[in-house]
Amino acid sequence: MNQDQTLPLGDLLQLIKTWAQDLGFDQIEVSPLAMSDHESYLRRWLEQGFHGEMGYMARHVDLRVEPARLHPGALSALSLTMPYLPAGGQDQIQSTLADPEAAYIARYALGRDYHRVIRGRLKSLSAQINQWLINHDHLTFTSRPITDSAPFLEKRFAETSGLGWIGKHTLHINQHRGSYHFLGELLTNLPFSASSKTSSNHCGSCQRCIDICPTNAIVGPYELDARRCIAYLTIEYKGIIPESLRDAIGNRVFGCDDCQLICPWNRHAHVHQIKDFEPRHELDRSTLLSLFAWTEADYLARTEGSPLRRVGFDGWQRNLAVALGNAPFDERIIQALELKRRQSSDLVAAHVDWALTKQRAKANL
Ligand code: SF4
Repeated sequence: MNQDQTLPLGDLLQLIKTWAQDLGFDQIEVSPLAMSDHESYLRRWLEQGFHGEMGYMARHVDLRVEPARLHPGALSALSLTMPYLPAGGQDQIQSTLADPEAAYIARYALGRDYHRVIRGRLKSLSAQINQWLINHDHLTFTSRPITDSAPFLEKRFAETSGLGWIGKHTLHINQHRGSYHFLGELLTNLPFSASSKTSSNHCGSCQRCIDICPTNAIVGPYELDARRCIAYLTIEYKGIIPESLRDAIGNRVFGCDDCQLICPWNRHAHVHQIKDFEPRHELDRSTLLSLFAWTEADYLARTEGSPLRRVGFDGWQRNLAVALGNAPFDERIIQALELKRRQSSDLVAAHVDWALTKQRAKANL
């Protein structure tokens, strides 16, 4: 890197903010690379086993707390946010959760996989920065785009950049935009000055997210036991969902937004303008029965490039079986479960049997 002292990094940063907004990011700030203060929190969380079967969280703790090692020569980290709340907003979340025949899918997962969307746009941003530097005779720009794709404490970095704070539910919130946003980062070899202040925490005495969590997964302020979290159980976890937690899952078949829905700061949540995040296959308005009728070929075709692919077809059917068990009695549900029972794996069959027992019990009431 040419260390020409005349390189106008302040001007470049302003341009980067404009380019980033043109790419769909709504905020961008610079965070310091030193982050060791979060190490004790992370290690304590891991020691308590709160990460469940997410073994990747326990790997590379050293990289998570020393992110400069993720990109040799890194001198700064740009933190960015991109909203994902669909046009229906929170009203649509409430109406879907209130309809026991409807399938609730976390809002972030309705459209194209955010990893692909955000990494692609971070690469475009990087290319624009590179071109600007070439035009200014600086020829050795390097960067690494990250979005939930490397051992990196994204929420903590966003907090120290001034973009918001980590709420008691452990998600990232912005005072003016709420929490329905993705985070992305660009590690660069440019010596941008870190933003001047870490965000203040505005949770105060509120603990609505702790009280509303259907499975009591927020075991204390800023302490999430992922093993109880519906997002973990329906996405990351591959096994038999504990029976004690199935009723509380309700009609949530992929993730959960309850702690965001209750959060007062989401009064300010921004609706996204990203075509890639538009709901696919009417996933924001599908019934449990219609999704349960998908064959494996349907699932593979309709989840191509979608976050829903992460759970796999067995996990998808498992989750739908639990939700159908929680639905009001319906003869069509019993028929669908009995049909699936004949052709399902042991994992799915275990949940179908539970759902059939629940449905038959309701029929006899
Ligand atoms: S619901 Fe209340 S405690 Fe929870 S994250 Fe929002 S402001 Fe913080």
